[in-house]
Amino acid sequence: MADKNQRYVHIGRRSPQERPIRERLGDFREIAARFTHQEAMSQASRCEQCGVPYCHVYCPLHNNIPDWLRMAAEGRFEEAYRLAETTNNLPEICGRICPQDRLCEAKWACTLEQAGHDTVTIGAVEQFLGDLAFEQGWVRPRMPRAEWAQHVGIVGAGPAGLAAAEELRAMGYAVTLYDRHGAPGGLLRFGIPGFKLEKNVIVRRCDHILRAGVLFVGRFALGLDATLSEIRQRHDAVLLALGAYRPNHLPLPGAERGTVVDGLAYLIASMGDPAATLLDAPETVNACDRRVVVVGGGDTAMDCVRTALRQGSCGVICLYRRGELDRTGSRRELDKALAEGVQVLWRAEPSAYRPNTVMMMEGKPASCIQRSNGVLTVRVRDDTDHNIECRLIDAELVISAIGNRPELPGFFGASDLATTMRGSVRVNPDTGATNLPGVFAAGDLSRGPSLAVWAIRDGRAAAHGIHRYLRSSATAVSDTLSGVAG
Ligand SMILES: Cc1cc2nc3c(=O)[nH]c(=O)nc-3n(C[C@H](O)[C@H](O)[C@H](O)COP(=O)(O)OP(=O)(O)OC[C@H]3O[C@@H](n4cnc5c(N)ncnc54)[C@H](O)[C@@H]3O)c2cc1C
Ligand code: SF4
Repeated sequence: MADKNQRYVHIGRRSPQERPIRERLGDFREIAARFTHQEAMSQASRCEQCGVPYCHVYCPLHNNIPDWLRMAAEGRFEEAYRLAETTNNLPEICGRICPQDRLCEAKWACTLEQAGHDTVTIGAVEQFLGDLAFEQGWVRPRMPRAEWAQHVGIVGAGPAGLAAAEELRAMGYAVTLYDRHGAPGGLLRFGIPGFKLEKNVIVRRCDHILRAGVLFVGRFALGLDATLSEIRQRHDAVLLALGAYRPNHLPLPGAERGTVVDGLAYLIASMGDPAATLLDAPETVNACDRRVVVVGGGDTAMDCVRTALRQGSCGVICLYRRGELDRTGSRRELDKALAEGVQVLWRAEPSAYRPNTVMMMEGKPASCIQRSNGVLTVRVRDDTDHNIECRLIDAELVISAIGNRPELPGFFGASDLATTMRGSVRVNPDTGATNLPGVFAAGDLSRGPSLAVWAIRDGRAAAHGIHRYLRSSATAVSDTLSGVAG
């Protein structure tokens, strides 16, 4: 029997079982099962408690991973969850959607991997703990022990806004959370497809955060329903957590407005959530029985191709301008898309689009023409970049998933809010403070499109920045604690 700290010698790395491809393409449910208690204990026990936990360093939240893995390995699940929730407001969600292969489970982040064994399945254990905690009733609202007189307005109810709301409420502030959708959750609820994150998972977490007394105001759009200065007048401090929704423009000659759909708008529309406020996309856009081309190779592109397959597309091709090894998105997401039947053309860029046309099939007699709703001309470079081949691809639906940027502050009447050269709101990274007194920003709005876990990290940092700001700027009258909670 190996030492209890060397179980990895006998126990191999195992991820939760994935459903068969044919079955999972038939619905939008998550593709992976959850660990059983036994599996969670056994996989957690692979952690060798090495004393140089780079997993903790590479986790943006600096989760106390080895400690809660040890507790989970010993079956002390409630204690493990309690520890996990001290650093992460959405543990079961990060466990599901963090690209662990680039973070806590990266090759360089786990000592086991360096020693020739596979990394510990940290994310799956974190998900298990969070799900179990809800089922067992261990997740309780973090009620403040006392109330401050000041209140904070948070605009944007994605992971950054939610994490900040929970922290600030627990500190004792009155918190109002605004969003243009009719429900909280941001991209976790309205953008990321159910096969990565089922919606009941985010709904129950949002309900839990609101239960502590956070007031949610939906269908409120900053820039349309109020300007930033109006919101500032209502609150002692304001956190902007608006995400990044302005699509990068795909320069595609021949594509008139409406013939190429923005990837994020497509995903939000595909979700069919009645609480969503749709972006600039036809409500009925659907890939069923259509040949689909998705331009882009990041995680949004992977979500689009996999959504199109589930909608019943008769073929999905993904065009990516770089080579496979130069891709920046998660390898795991790419592998899942490839396994589900997506064809990727590397080093390929569309150069023209002709919607509603007919096309000759290459190498076929002239009589053999194929009717099509669109033909895309694609330039494919070889490995040397010297030879370019032009291909015609039948494309009845073209989806552009080449990235998004934050909305410019002028949109919500705040042209004096400083931005970076890349168009995101400029902040002090430790506190989220902007150049305007009492205005803070977090998440994709200040970081540019990133990850949920970074948004949570920013939201937590901004909450502490706001707390320090309010405590230092409080007047004698408003600086009172009241109503000590039981
Ligand atoms: C398709 C897709 C897939 C992704 N997959 C992953 C993944 O697998 N793993 C991962 O870690 N990350 C993933 N991400 C990234 C992750 O979702 C984001 O980094 C994260 O949600 C950012 O959080 P946020 O709170 O800053 O913004 P958001 O989640 O975008 O929330 C911003 C909120 O602000 C609201 N809002 C915007 N403008 C206004 C306005 N004017 N007035 C009022 N409200 C407004 C929006 O409605 C939204 O609810 C993905 C992103 C996309 C687009
Ligand atoms: S939050 Fe993400 S990076 Fe951190 S431990 Fe959990 S899964 Fe890993």
